[in-house]
Amino acid sequence: MNLLAFGSLAFDQVETPFGKSGKILGGSATYIAMAAAHEGAEPGIVSAVGGDFPTPHMAALRKRHIDLEGVQIRKDEKTFFWSVRYHNDMNTRDTLETQLNVLGGFKPVLPENYRHARYVVLGNSDPEMQSQVLAQIENPELVVLDTMNYWMDHSRPALLKVLKQVDVLAINDEEGRQLSGEYALVKAVRKIRGLGPRIVLIKRGEHGALLFHEDAVFFAPALPLESVFDPTGAGDAFAGGFAGYLAATDNTSFENMRRAVIHGSALASFTVEAFGTEKIESLTGEMIEVRLREFLSLTQVDIALEKQL
Ligand code: AMP
Repeated sequence: MNLLAFGSLAFDQVETPFGKSGKILGGSATYIAMAAAHEGAEPGIVSAVGGDFPTPHMAALRKRHIDLEGVQIRKDEKTFFWSVRYHNDMNTRDTLETQLNVLGGFKPVLPENYRHARYVVLGNSDPEMQSQVLAQIENPELVVLDTMNYWMDHSRPALLKVLKQVDVLAINDEEGRQLSGEYALVKAVRKIRGLGPRIVLIKRGEHGALLFHEDAVFFAPALPLESVFDPTGAGDAFAGGFAGYLAATDNTSFENMRRAVIHGSALASFTVEAFGTEKIESLTGEMIEVRLREFLSLTQVDIALEKQL
């Protein structure tokens, strides 16, 4: 186990202009861990499920060699449930229902071997809980945190506290603006870096992603896709693919992070091509390889620069 994924294991119900999913496997930890496993990391999940969480869902995670020792099973409770409806543009969505259930009073307790995880992804959740997880890990190499507007509005002090302890903040541009109070992204990132994270990953969906590292910036495009079926989990798969690649290579240099952003983008691009985890569950190494090549050919260009600067 070299990558700890903290987040939800869930039942999701997704409605897009293409149809309704029914109650399917979802959750931020599911997407993070599956993406990281595809990158060759050895993920372990910290979460909780109720007695209603089906054995085949657990089996789907185990099949990908995802460690579930950190998952508490509360027989008398119900699993977290989330239902969502996407608008026609597929970029905006309305959460129809969130039932926290077993995650409501969740007290994360890490198994002994999780405490030495070198790479940590704290999926979007209550920042108090994210802090409780972090407090149990000894000296991690890299901590990535995902969050959203809700926590900026409702739990700002707790969010500011946990931000002081993370290396990478993964958010979208609107969240970055809200957190910093600055409209221009470069200024927003500068302010956010003053809050703790030395690296800021800005996710822009179909417009790619920006990696703000100490003094350098890297931009990764998103692949123009034939079909966008269900954007659920794309952000988590991006974070899981990014951190999974870093964990598998155990290298956190800027150069390697640039590669990791492309790997994260590739995993996210698969995720949106089918309902829920359908596509990310069935990926092969060869499919990922082909997609990485597509990313490369999308941006590679040979320009002759004559002037010496
Ligand atoms: P994303 O599309 O990357 O924002 O992540 C979607 C996943 O996050 C879904 O599979 C949901 O089950 C999960 N999710 C949604 N809301 C919450 C929440 N409040 N706490 C934990 N997980 C959530």
